[in-house]
Amino acid sequence: MVQISKNSNFNGITPKNLMDATYEAVENFQIRAFFEAKDEILETGKFSEEEFYELLDAMIDAETERKLVLDSLIGKEPLFLEEIAETLKDFPAENVIRDIIYLKEQGYIEEHIEIKTKTVIKKIKGEEKEVEEKEYFYRYQVKDIPDDFIEHFFEPVSIVFDSEVCCQCGWCSSICPVNAISVTADTLEINDEICIKCGLCYSVCPRSFSIEQVGKSINKLDKSLNFSEKINGYINTYSASTTKDDIKEVRQDGGIVTSLLEYLLKDKLVDAIVAVQHSEEKWKPEPVIVDDLKDLYKTGGTKYANASTLAIIDKAKEYNNIAVVGTPCMMNAIEKGNLFSSGVPFFKNIKYKIGLFCMESFPYEGVLGLIKEQFEQDFNKVTKMDISSGKFIIYLDKGEDLNVPLKDVKSYARHNCHFCEDLTADYADISVGSIGSGSGWSSVITRNKKGEELFKGASKAGLIESKNLKDVKPGQPLLERIAGIKRKNCKSIELKKEKERSDNNN
Ligand SMILES: Cc1cc2nc3c(=O)[nH]c(=O)nc-3n(C[C@H](O)[C@H](O)[C@H](O)COP(=O)(O)OP(=O)(O)OC[C@H]3O[C@@H](n4cnc5c(N)ncnc54)[C@H](O)[C@@H]3O)c2cc1C
Ligand code: SF4
Ligand code: SF4
Ligand code: SF4
Repeated sequence: MVQISKNSNFNGITPKNLMDATYEAVENFQIRAFFEAKDEILETGKFSEEEFYELLDAMIDAETERKLVLDSLIGKEPLFLEEIAETLKDFPAENVIRDIIYLKEQGYIEEHIEIKTKTVIKKIKGEEKEVEEKEYFYRYQVKDIPDDFIEHFFEPVSIVFDSEVCCQCGWCSSICPVNAISVTADTLEINDEICIKCGLCYSVCPRSFSIEQVGKSINKLDKSLNFSEKINGYINTYSASTTKDDIKEVRQDGGIVTSLLEYLLKDKLVDAIVAVQHSEEKWKPEPVIVDDLKDLYKTGGTKYANASTLAIIDKAKEYNNIAVVGTPCMMNAIEKGNLFSSGVPFFKNIKYKIGLFCMESFPYEGVLGLIKEQFEQDFNKVTKMDISSGKFIIYLDKGEDLNVPLKDVKSYARHNCHFCEDLTADYADISVGSIGSGSGWSSVITRNKKGEELFKGASKAGLIESKNLKDVKPGQPLLERIAGIKRKNCKSIELKKEKERSDNNN
């Protein structure tokens, strides 16, 4: 309990209330499982004893805060997340918003969804038409908790994989304190014999429960941010290109990601970056940690097969500051790490999150299959792949390029990408993609101050030239339209065992 007196979040809470909440918090199954498995955890070598206690402290603090938040809401009517954050001044607003969603998953809070219909004027095939649009309003209220209530137990993420919705990001395997999880680009295995049932993997998994309302509400708190239902919160949008000829040689679009990483490494704003490069099998991405500029350019260019980049984050523990490049599902996973605590040593060192736009990715076998079946080409001769203007394009070593309509390759894409609603990496500090900008340029969304400063810093260092995305054609309207289509077509996730559990409760 020593840690509580150190946490400035608890200033203003009476010692008695703090003590009561902490006693309740240590009853939490995650904390107990973690504490009781101390010897097994230390044996794996993932955490030192000091790190173990640091993480335990952070878990107890987070759970204590949740108990205090819960107590403050008893008897209140359903409220919006922003309203709750406004009422509970004792804690940082962002924490309160995350706490509510977590408490909902623990079974304490009920989500009330109100649907309203409004009429809007839309241009359809050049004609202005009245269209009905649905608006969703989410309010939260403490449930009537019976005396025999048992907090929801978070199962290991095998239920996500078994429900065929795992996006293979790899985050659960980095987080698991006893190294019970192995993730590759298409497999996930849990060693039940060593799993301590702490549920940490479930908490951070981007597919276990949605944090959509967390992201939106946190964005809405910052009145300086622009907000769009389709591309979410942002400071600025740009169309940008690298100024460096050697980055132009390896880039996918504007070479912005590589330019940002070069700036970060050169200016020692980070000690290492986590990205992907070609593995020995061409076009198969291999997650890598790069701490030397000379290896950076190996990461340039898009590999359309998916990678489990976050599975190597724990290996970057030795670095104080890292930048991570990844798809929107990976940015979502990292944000979920904020839900239970930020005490994990290799989580605290993530200083920059660079997100890529992503409509879908392909299994490695799918990439090979589509090159063979759709293009009748040897994939070793392919020098670049691209998705642009509704076409899947391949460039060959002879300088030739070939394309097929994107709809003809959709069937090769990964099934689990159908459960993904995020095109533009909502949870990144800065998001980069091609939609909206011309050839050789990238569309860039700076999502927060850190992302904006990074972009401005790399521009000032002469690595990037840019225009406002709103001044470019097809620009932001196309980006918003496609982001909206992805959200609309997204399938909802139903975890097999979760459904059975809720059916039994009703
Ligand atoms: C699977 C996938 C699908 C995409 N789909 C779209 C799309 O539909 N629309 C769109 O506008 N943009 C899409 N993008 C983003 C686009 O292809 C470019 O990555 C982006 O425009 C950045 O270009 P750049 O020239 O700045 O990047 P570069 O400077 O060339 O750097 C590319 C970076 O991407 C990383 N990377 C490459 N492949 C992967 C991978 N498989 N997983 C994780 N990281 C990877 C590399 O590590 C590198 O850091 C997609 C990217 C990926 C990986
Ligand atoms: S597999 Fe999940 S529940 Fe099991 S020990 Fe690892 S993190 Fe905890
Ligand atoms: S954290 Fe990522 S790899 Fe692990 S189960 Fe969830 S989606 Fe799959
Ligand atoms: S579509 Fe979504 S789930 Fe699939 S790779 Fe892209 S971000 Fe991940």
